[in-house]
Amino acid sequence: DELLVLRDVQRSYIQADNELPILVGANLSVKAGEMVALVAPSGAGKSTLLHVAGLLERPNGGEVYIAGKPQSGAVDRARTVTRRDEIGFVYQFHHLLAEFSALENVVLPQLISGANKSEAESRALELLKYMRVDHRAAHRPAELSGGEQQRVAIARAMANGPRVLLADEPTGNLDPTTSDYVFKALNSLVKQSGISALVATHNLFLAERMDRQITLVDGKVVEI
Ligand code: ADP
Ligand code: ADP
Repeated sequence: DELLVLRDVQRSYIQADNELPILVGANLSVKAGEMVALVAPSGAGKSTLLHVAGLLERPNGGEVYIAGKPQSGAVDRARTVTRRDEIGFVYQFHHLLAEFSALENVVLPQLISGANKSEAESRALELLKYMRVDHRAAHRPAELSGGEQQRVAIARAMANGPRVLLADEPTGNLDPTTSDYVFKALNSLVKQSGISALVATHNLFLAERMDRQITLVDGKVVEI
């Protein structure tokens, strides 16, 4: 029941003709319904870890398993489909599409994955209700508060029923009260849907409230 597993993941970048190792045998397992906080200083490799886990970048070595399936042998197209249907992403800035309503922002990923319109709309509304922003469904992102935008972004990340949720500073742009509210909504969604969540954050108060805290030391995952 570990929906996200990284085994001996290696990732380096070439900078000025030098190889810069970022992940050096990183291991991580996140169970279904578990939310793990990733806390590490800037430059430690948090984004790299999230990008490798989210199939946005290929590791140089090791293996990434999504819902038990190894991803190293998958061609780019298969990785794109897995990313679209099995992984949800939440960012510090919501990245909602400005010209679409909150509802449409949650409907669109489902249409791209082949859902029919009425099913997609009812699921979108259900997710917005769960995140307590359904009263704002018809509004565009610019008409929403920061907390509402992030709640819509979480609903969108869940639109296709992912098995894994990856978040990069999901509350980094919010005041403490709103952060708390968004965190609670995210946490109950993870528990209720039984997905595996990895959340990079600088907010130690929120990190402490997650199930487990990890950091990166010399390119390896270390439990705190
Ligand atoms: P964090 O998210 O913890 O701040 P990152 O994963 O973004 O860390 O970056 C770790 C290191 O890898 C940094 O030193 C950064 O400069 C380097 N890096 C990240 N992406 C690239 C890239 N595409 N090309 C070269 N170096 C990169
Ligand atoms: P949150 O705690 O969700 O961030 P706020 O305290 O920022 O909410 O906003 C309270 C209410 O004010 C929101 O539920 C929303 O209805 C309304 N509101 C906030 N910002 C805007 C805006 N830019 N345009 C229209 N309504 C807004």
